Amino acid sequence: MRISYSSFETYNNCPLKYKFQEIDKIRTPKSKEAVFGSVIHGTMKFIHTPGILSPTMEQTMEHFSNSWNPAVFDSEQEERSAFAQGVRIIQDYYKRNRPEDFNIVNLESRFAIEIGEEGGKHIVSGIIDRIDRTDDGFEIIDYKTGKKMPTQKDIDENVQLTVYLQAFLSQYPEEAKNLSKLKVSLYFLKHGVKLSAFRTEEQLKANEKMFLETIKLIEEGKFEPNISPLCDWCGYQKNCPMWKHKFKEERKIDTEEINSSIQEYIDLKSAMTITKERLGKLQEDIMQYMEQEEVERVFSENGIVSKTLRKTYKYDDAKIKELLEPIGKWKDVLKLDPTALKNIFPVLPGAVQREIEKAKVIDKESASLNVRKK
Ligand code: SF4
Repeated sequence: MRISYSSFETYNNCPLKYKFQEIDKIRTPKSKEAVFGSVIHGTMKFIHTPGILSPTMEQTMEHFSNSWNPAVFDSEQEERSAFAQGVRIIQDYYKRNRPEDFNIVNLESRFAIEIGEEGGKHIVSGIIDRIDRTDDGFEIIDYKTGKKMPTQKDIDENVQLTVYLQAFLSQYPEEAKNLSKLKVSLYFLKHGVKLSAFRTEEQLKANEKMFLETIKLIEEGKFEPNISPLCDWCGYQKNCPMWKHKFKEERKIDTEEINSSIQEYIDLKSAMTITKERLGKLQEDIMQYMEQEEVERVFSENGIVSKTLRKTYKYDDAKIKELLEPIGKWKDVLKLDPTALKNIFPVLPGAVQREIEKAKVIDKESASLNVRKK
């Protein structure tokens, strides 16, 4: 199959969004963030396009202004603030990056690289924002216009940069022996910060493997929705089973009966929470009273409350091992603790995390209803 880096990223953020976009081909209007990003990227290209004379700051600002599209914003105020932010980004960038200081090799270069083996070959495509010649090698740069700035660790493991380096190497294969001189960078324009890293041969191989695994999931038709903060920017909410009910007024699908069932369910669930809290408090009062009166049961007109002692035990691991190992039973009592694994997961290296994710299989599946009150 043919997959672009951006659709690979879409699949990893939400497989269902990938399906809507790439398989069902449902078109959605470009978000204002995407339009803003395109204008900034276009201006970056304008600044660095090689010519006899580099553009001045004034010419750059004029280019930015002419490419601006006010129509995508919801209000005049929003549009004005986005424009001011764009001006600040460009001016700040220009001051720190005089165009004549760089040796540009390529801008917005398209690539299509082959991955996989005979019988299972695939094409990964994309666009590299910028490739520079540095004093001793090359630098591959991608501009980011989002607010979020990742950590250095994220940059060290960033999949997009690794793919871009693979694409670069497919165009300049002789550079494969100079990996330590091929820098990959993400430039966070809103912060005026560029974070860089280098890649090893092992990382390049592992990256290809990861792509092949994602392609396999797509080919197997695995398109589960993944609710995340990114849903706020997703144009498919009206198609998505996790969100489309929110638009019921528009779709006119609900009966009064189901609406009142949903309402009652939410109310009962929150009454249960209140009851649970109240029961905890009453239990505390009664226990205290029993201790004070030295009684194990208390009586009322409508029943008896008894105290029962529940004990949980823990064992001396070393002692149990000593007893069970000689008779070949130690392995029978050892088992993975999923909660402990979940706790250590965030501190594991990215490659180990990915291997663990792959080793995960569904044990049991059941549906339940969760309530989040407005
Ligand atoms: S709304 Fe969220 S869960 Fe639904 S398709 Fe979009 S990103 Fe996925």
